[in-house]
Amino acid sequence: MIARHSLFAASAFLAASCLTPASFAQERSAHEQQARDIYANVIAIRSARGQEKVPEVVDYLVGELKASGFSDDDLMVTDYDSKGEPTQGLVVWYRAEGEPAEKPIVLLAHMDVVDALAEDWVRDPFTLTEEEGYFFGRGTADNKYGLTNLVQTFIRLKEEGFEPTRDLVMVLSGDEETDMVSTRAQATYVAETIDPAFILNSDAGGLTLGTNGEPLDYGIQGAEKTYATWEITVTNPGGHSSTPRKDNAIYELASALKAIEAYDFPVRYSELTLASLEAAGRKRLDKLGLAMRAFAADPTDADAVATLRADPSLIGQTGTTCVATMLRAGHAENALPQSATATVNCRIFPGVTIEETEATLREVVGNEEVQFNLISDFPDSPESGMREDVLAAVKAALAERGVDVPIIPHMSAGGTDGMHYRNLGYDTYGVSASASKPNDTYAHGLNERVPVDSFYGGLDHWYVMLKTLAGPDA
Ligand SMILES: [Zn+2]
Repeated sequence: MIARHSLFAASAFLAASCLTPASFAQERSAHEQQARDIYANVIAIRSARGQEKVPEVVDYLVGELKASGFSDDDLMVTDYDSKGEPTQGLVVWYRAEGEPAEKPIVLLAHMDVVDALAEDWVRDPFTLTEEEGYFFGRGTADNKYGLTNLVQTFIRLKEEGFEPTRDLVMVLSGDEETDMVSTRAQATYVAETIDPAFILNSDAGGLTLGTNGEPLDYGIQGAEKTYATWEITVTNPGGHSSTPRKDNAIYELASALKAIEAYDFPVRYSELTLASLEAAGRKRLDKLGLAMRAFAADPTDADAVATLRADPSLIGQTGTTCVATMLRAGHAENALPQSATATVNCRIFPGVTIEETEATLREVVGNEEVQFNLISDFPDSPESGMREDVLAAVKAALAERGVDVPIIPHMSAGGTDGMHYRNLGYDTYGVSASASKPNDTYAHGLNERVPVDSFYGGLDHWYVMLKTLAGPDA
């Protein structure tokens, strides 16, 4: 659309040098502008815990969806009580014409964000700000980009008259970042009433860019580790510290913790983790890179295992990890402790259950006096096997962006809505449109941002994927 300016005006702009050439690209197509508007409007709503504003996001999205042709029958708003705070979920049906050719596809995003304090930010976190080639604001990455992307794609397809050959159901949760009450209920609802072929999540996966912004590979999140936390406690009659007894709650707990510290969980791997380590290993020439590839070639390679497990960022890719994170014990300096409690947090490898992990920990501790109390409330989350149709759809979406890079399934440390759907037996894939450099990830943190180019570059991602998976040629 630069052509609308006269040549003279264009060169005058350039000469003024206050505008970079990229600024000319700001004349956007109608759907790009619409996406930017939705993005700005949802970011402006502070839908964080304590603010009770998820319903405002729902209201806004319902209005936009209705304006584009979705009817009341296509929309379902549900109230949830997220541990004392009201929140909402929104389900949107884009129904197949006539008899659906295949089972539905469910699409996930969450409407809530981790809170942000304006005084800590350089720019107002709840105003979408475009600066230095980035969009800044809370949720620009997690997950209001995904939310915008899905909603805008539904609107765009509806306005274009697209008729899917199977039902597409967008399921938007309202407390993903905290208690996942809405997620759990929605996952159960999806299993009972929609029973989809599979689930696509906008809150994970995406393109990794190199330092110069060049695409390196595309990651599909096909698994996440199960999160589990135990309090382990030893109690004792106690007494006066001048008359110490042989058994002591603090000593016994300390021994239990030393046993957990010394224990290495068995090496675990899956096709998915081996593929992702092999791909990541190929990108680096150091000792770790060699170990990644050696492990991928032979997971019994003890040297490779030792090298990977010595690195905090990689140890979790080779098995379950458990670590002590908190401690409390005793009640007076001159009294024997009546109780001692430690908190142990585990990240469990897919395929191993929470119960099995507790049994292992009990065996490692080897002391019946040590009580285990599971205090977390997240489900086991098995791995999703890769599907050719999903891979093909991602490939088509990348091709539309002119990107031809390896597509690598990966396992993340855990924490998306997807785990609840995997727990119920549904294959779930994180296939976000996002593109980011490894050092650009500010999700949950200060000054969250996404590159402006990748915001617009990703707008066709879901459009192409949904047409591929639910179009007449699917
Ligand atoms: Zn998220």
